[in-house]
Amino acid sequence: MAPSLPLHQSPGRLATRALFIADLHLQAGMPRTLAAFFTFLQQHASKTGALYILGDLFEYWAGDDDIADPCNHSIVKAMRTLAHGGVAIYWLAGNRDFLLGSSFARATGATLLAEPHVLQFDDLPACAPICLAHGDAQCLDDTGYMTFRARVRNLAWQNQFLAMPLSQRKALIEGMRQGSREQQRSKSAEIMDVNSAAIEQLFELTGTRLMIHGHTHRPAIHQGSAGQVRHVLPDWDCDNEPHKGGFIALDLDGQLRHYLLNGLPVGG
Ligand code: MN
Repeated sequence: MAPSLPLHQSPGRLATRALFIADLHLQAGMPRTLAAFFTFLQQHASKTGALYILGDLFEYWAGDDDIADPCNHSIVKAMRTLAHGGVAIYWLAGNRDFLLGSSFARATGATLLAEPHVLQFDDLPACAPICLAHGDAQCLDDTGYMTFRARVRNLAWQNQFLAMPLSQRKALIEGMRQGSREQQRSKSAEIMDVNSAAIEQLFELTGTRLMIHGHTHRPAIHQGSAGQVRHVLPDWDCDNEPHKGGFIALDLDGQLRHYLLNGLPVGG
């Protein structure tokens, strides 16, 4: 369970043990957010032991045959550089990029994780096991989305979809995104947040008391009544004001802390 450090990267040289990000929604039309990701990889991720991407790195993923797209290619290249530098990259699917597969993993050097994933650092007693998830599967109150999710996470549906030509897949996704933007406007804020019973259940299922997820775009640290702590990651947007973004670090002392993209602690 505990990812071992690459041999040439001794813990003493690391600024943090692991970094966590989600919901960057990278796309060619958001060049400043893309640039912020590359800067983040160079300035922060290159000095950690492991980078955990907890879903929706991409605005959408039409299939691994879209790696050749110039924007996707630049992201793959940057991730591969990071992996070659000795940083372990772990990937967990979001609701927008769940079609990402083994070709992407091979091209980047990332390890694909199944959700939920329990992360444990045996040499960090201060850090309890952490449950990692994207967060969309816990949005039970959004019944329309849950129906859609059940359909598209079905393997038969995915195989049928991936058998279509890439251009057709991209056009279909574009249509779905338009539809979901319209639906979201009519949904209440509560409906689009995680369901507290689903979160309780996830803590119970994984036997954890610590969780990191994204998806809701509501960065926070929630303290549960039974001592559970749930960290929610921010989404990124450096192309619109005000700029959004940030990451969570598992610091060398075994504590989870939230940081802004400039490396300053949130609220510090
Ligand atoms: Mn999401």
